[in-house]
Amino acid sequence: MSHAFFQVLVEHSLVGVYLFDEHRFIYVNQALAELFGYTPGELMGRLGPLDLTHPQDRKAVEEDIRRRLSGGEGGGARHQFRGLHKDGSVVWCEAISQVIRYRGRPMIVGTLVDFTARKSMEEELEAKERYYRALFEGANDAIFIMEGERFVGCNEKTLEIFGCHSKGEILGRSPFDFSPPFQPGGTPSEEKGRGLIEAALRGAPQRFYWKHLRKNGEPFDAEVSLNRVDVGGKVYLQAIVRDITLRKRMEEALRRNKELYQDLVERSGLAIFVVGKGGRMEYFNQQLCELLGYTSQEMKGLSFIDGVHPEDRDLVLDFFERWFSGDPTAPARYECRLVRKSGEVRQVEVDVTPVAGDGGVTAFRVYLRDVTEKKDMEKALYNARKMEAMGRLAGGVAHDFNNMLMVIMGNCDLILQGLVGPEDLYRKVGAIKDAANRAADLTQQLLAFSKKQILEPRVLRLNDVVADMESMLRRLIGEDVELRVRLDPHLWLVKADPSQMEQVIVNLAVNARDAMPQGGCLTIETANVELEEGHAGVGLEMAPGPYVKLTVEDTGLGMDEETRERAFEPFFTTKERGTGLGLATVYGIVKQSGGHIWCHTEPGKGTTFEIYLPRVEDGEERIEERDRESHTWEGGTETVLVAEDDPSVREVTVSILKSAGYRVLEAASGPEALDVCRRHPGLVDVLVTDVVMPGMSGRALATRMEAMYPGMKVLYISGYTDNIIARHGVLEDGLNFIQKPFTRIELLRKVRQVLDG
Ligand code: ADP
Ligand code: MG
Repeated sequence: MSHAFFQVLVEHSLVGVYLFDEHRFIYVNQALAELFGYTPGELMGRLGPLDLTHPQDRKAVEEDIRRRLSGGEGGGARHQFRGLHKDGSVVWCEAISQVIRYRGRPMIVGTLVDFTARKSMEEELEAKERYYRALFEGANDAIFIMEGERFVGCNEKTLEIFGCHSKGEILGRSPFDFSPPFQPGGTPSEEKGRGLIEAALRGAPQRFYWKHLRKNGEPFDAEVSLNRVDVGGKVYLQAIVRDITLRKRMEEALRRNKELYQDLVERSGLAIFVVGKGGRMEYFNQQLCELLGYTSQEMKGLSFIDGVHPEDRDLVLDFFERWFSGDPTAPARYECRLVRKSGEVRQVEVDVTPVAGDGGVTAFRVYLRDVTEKKDMEKALYNARKMEAMGRLAGGVAHDFNNMLMVIMGNCDLILQGLVGPEDLYRKVGAIKDAANRAADLTQQLLAFSKKQILEPRVLRLNDVVADMESMLRRLIGEDVELRVRLDPHLWLVKADPSQMEQVIVNLAVNARDAMPQGGCLTIETANVELEEGHAGVGLEMAPGPYVKLTVEDTGLGMDEETRERAFEPFFTTKERGTGLGLATVYGIVKQSGGHIWCHTEPGKGTTFEIYLPRVEDGEERIEERDRESHTWEGGTETVLVAEDDPSVREVTVSILKSAGYRVLEAASGPEALDVCRRHPGLVDVLVTDVVMPGMSGRALATRMEAMYPGMKVLYISGYTDNIIARHGVLEDGLNFIQKPFTRIELLRKVRQVLDG
């Protein structure tokens, strides 16, 4: 073969061919030069192999070349290294070369191929492999590869879930080695498991629950999916096992919670329902059915308002309208009457809580508590306690009265028997008048004290209540106990029933006196306080804000821990002849007035009761009252119709009114009054009527007459709590009322006030 032949062969070879000595290329073919972006002419005799080597591999390549060139001929070797393209890019090279002697010097001859393309493919594969491995190993589930029933692969999580230390404990075994022993008829069974595996192998992915065992024998609930995977002509199963112990436990806890709340709702003793917009009852419990006396089937057909007493419906509907319109002043708690299916009326306390949904409040949860018995009880307590106080008072009063009567009778006798000289007569009559005045005073107070049938909360200054009672209290506590009264002259106003507040003070004073058998000091104090968050009880029981504080303090025996805790309980008493109703009544009244009461005491160190009543702003009511009191002339010339069935009350009422200049018509009943009206040619300006009369109530009479005389005023007179004009013992707004017995001046003032108001 000719030299030219080999030259053609080498020059046109697609494999790079090179020859270099320790410095430069002696020869490169076209393919090699092109690989690095050069022409053969640019390389031969000018550049060496290191110029075509990437800087990072240069050192290794240089050493290798030096070593081989100094080591003699032969030493064929295959290298991979990074070459450097003329444009700076990397060329992955694989060279096969050996040392020869040429022209008397050692040189390296070799061929070189570029495997950059292959290299990047390998890298891609490697990255993919890493990616899938991460998916496999990073999974939160155990992932198995199975050949038939044998595990041939698994991820790290498998070890954790099954409680194994190495894959060796798993590979080669079967899923049934990690399942509870087969029990005939029991599930899961091996048979069923095999069926699932076979189905998956046939190509239908399976998903099911399975009881698995950890290595230590502990069973756990798993969710398993089986998928057939075909790789290189072989069939595998991929099994993904998810440990759902936690999920199960949570589901179980949720279920139990739900049961618990259902139970609470049903057994709370509270009737509960949820009412949506439009008044539909979205939910109600059994208690509601029992409270109203309907079956739950019947209840389904009812609106929540159907059970409300007809007279209370407007009130309740108004509340609901306000709640749904988001009115923040709508009360969250109120009382109303319900009518049972049987017609029986029950008194309930109602609590309302909004249920928030998408776009604001969608419904309200309503809790009803039947307080009928409680109310009756409160009333009984109140009365019993009043009787007790009256009894004590009667004793004191009788004693005082006897003293006064002695003065009066003794002096009268002296005068009548002519035993008094003219110089002494004036002094004796003066003493009689004095005693009579004191007796009148006392009667006045007794009247004030007993005048408490109808509760009329109004805006008042507690100082006035305390001051009015002072002399009565002194009498009540006796001479051994000193009474100190300290009233804040700038006291804020509160809203309360004055006679109730009197009762509170009397009850506390009586207790204080009982606690000071050897005498002592009773201090009654009023003060303004601004309660801030952090003060005892504030935030928890009391809202922060301005209060009027009434303190009743004694220097008596005090109470031990147990007595203090129970002192407010009805019927709790430590006294031989106590009723245990005093403090219970106090508590009831204070709560009813929106206030709070605290007790500080220690055995031997006396007792302090603190009552907090929320401050109210000076309102119209107060001003009205001043106006009323400023009336100087109490008479009039208007026409009054007096309707009263009791002849003596009617007669005195008529006389009082006539004496003040009024034109008076009278009637003994409603029908008779209407008759009088028909015969009377003129107008009637005011109707003064008893509330309870046989035949027709005062209220009904007023309605009839108001239709006849538009603008006519009405004044009711009554002797006791009357639901016709007062609801739950509280006077209805806008009604005029005077309690029997009344004095002449009281009646005239009231009639004038009604006519002018
Ligand atoms: P009663 O006075 O009929 O016993 P109360 O309800 O008024 O009933 O009081 C209950 C109990 O609280 C009393 O029996 C007494 O033990 C105790 N108690 C009330 N007030 C005082 C007080 N100021 N000092 C000491 N103990 C008191
Ligand atoms: Mg008492």
